[in-house]
Amino acid sequence: MLIVKKFGGSSVANAERIKHVAQTIVNSYNEGNRVVVVLSAQGDTTDELIEKANEINPNASKREMDMLLATGEQQSVALMAMAIQALDVPVISLNAFQCKISSTSNYSNARIKDIATERILNELDNKKIVIITGFQGVNRSLDVTTLGRGGSDTSAVALAAKLEADICEIYTDVDGVYTGDPRVIKGAKKLNEITYDEMLELASLGAKVLHNRSVELAKKYNVNLVVRSSMTDAEGTIVKEETKVEKMLVNGVAVDKDVARISLVGVKNEPGVAFKLFSVLSKEKISVDIIIQSIGRDDKKDISFTTTREDLAQTLSLLDQNKERLGFDSVSYNDRVAKVSVVGAGMATNPGVAAKMFEATFDAGINVNMISTSEIKISILVDEKDADRAGNAIHDKFIGSGVEI
Ligand code: ADP
Ligand code: ASP
Ligand code: MG
Repeated sequence: MLIVKKFGGSSVANAERIKHVAQTIVNSYNEGNRVVVVLSAQGDTTDELIEKANEINPNASKREMDMLLATGEQQSVALMAMAIQALDVPVISLNAFQCKISSTSNYSNARIKDIATERILNELDNKKIVIITGFQGVNRSLDVTTLGRGGSDTSAVALAAKLEADICEIYTDVDGVYTGDPRVIKGAKKLNEITYDEMLELASLGAKVLHNRSVELAKKYNVNLVVRSSMTDAEGTIVKEETKVEKMLVNGVAVDKDVARISLVGVKNEPGVAFKLFSVLSKEKISVDIIIQSIGRDDKKDISFTTTREDLAQTLSLLDQNKERLGFDSVSYNDRVAKVSVVGAGMATNPGVAAKMFEATFDAGINVNMISTSEIKISILVDEKDADRAGNAIHDKFIGSGVEI
């Protein structure tokens, strides 16, 4: 079998973990498998590198940030190769340049375009274990790019798709996908299986157990994807097209704290204002999530929307630069908010879900600032300090209690 195994930061955090993982990899190789390994940077390395950069220049260009951040993964692959060499097994580490992982140009959030598999297949034919840097690509100018935080999952799935691997195993610090973040949601239950669509929704709403683009790719190329623990042998969660288990109304709860709310107060109540506003933002690749617009009174209205916290400063400065053109009175913002979502197929057709969700937040005394619904999820915006409590209350209501509506 050709197996792609991806290990996240905590799984390779120190020498002991690296040696443990090296043994797992070698065991799989000794069973006769062709093994490709994708690694993240060790532990908190990526965060530490960002801090280091901020000490020197908080406005450093994204190109230089990527140049710096990509070094974290490169350390991991070399160290892992050394650990496997110590076990006397043939191995080679490769970075994105060496295995030609080409990406779009946008630094810090690039997408993988293609991977030239020749080098990797050659090394596998030479009976080597191949260890590849996650999270990085190379753009048209031959510069290093990164794929967005958590992007190593996407590197692994892209490699599995391109190499037509039999399985792509994502090893992490929990033993599978749960109905909520097991570190936050007390009653979170492990799922044996989840569909690509449900997983995609959870990942996009902030369940960082898988990078959302990795799920998109897995669905597109029908990659056999498993999330499991690097510390225990527990069976993980299989992510696939269709699951055997009976459809639950709610599959999970996600809490996303990487959210900022921005409000434009006193916008002119005339056609084209929202168009102008959101095209200014989209030109700069700022993605906007929840949007609400107040009903106009007199000739003015208010528009509120959310972005990631990372994009907040740039958004505020764009609004300032375009104040005259957009014609608003003032801007207010809050970067201490969070989004709590419930995800599940068939929600749109079940009018009870929204009521039940608001009953949960009401019972917990939590104020809801914004609401957004779609076919498959309902999201609310709450104060960050209430987010975990809201997540737990909503999870208890739908899943913890085990009662279906
Ligand atoms: P890695 O470094 O292995 O990539 P991450 O920290 O990116 O690990 O992702 C694993 C973490 O995702 C877990 O430690 C857990 O706290 C969090 N998480 C959030 N939502 C979920 C969920 N629904 N199921 C499992 N883990 C979740
Ligand atoms: N090291 C990168 C990060 O911390 C990529 C990853 O872990 O997947 O975001
Ligand atoms: Mg991750």
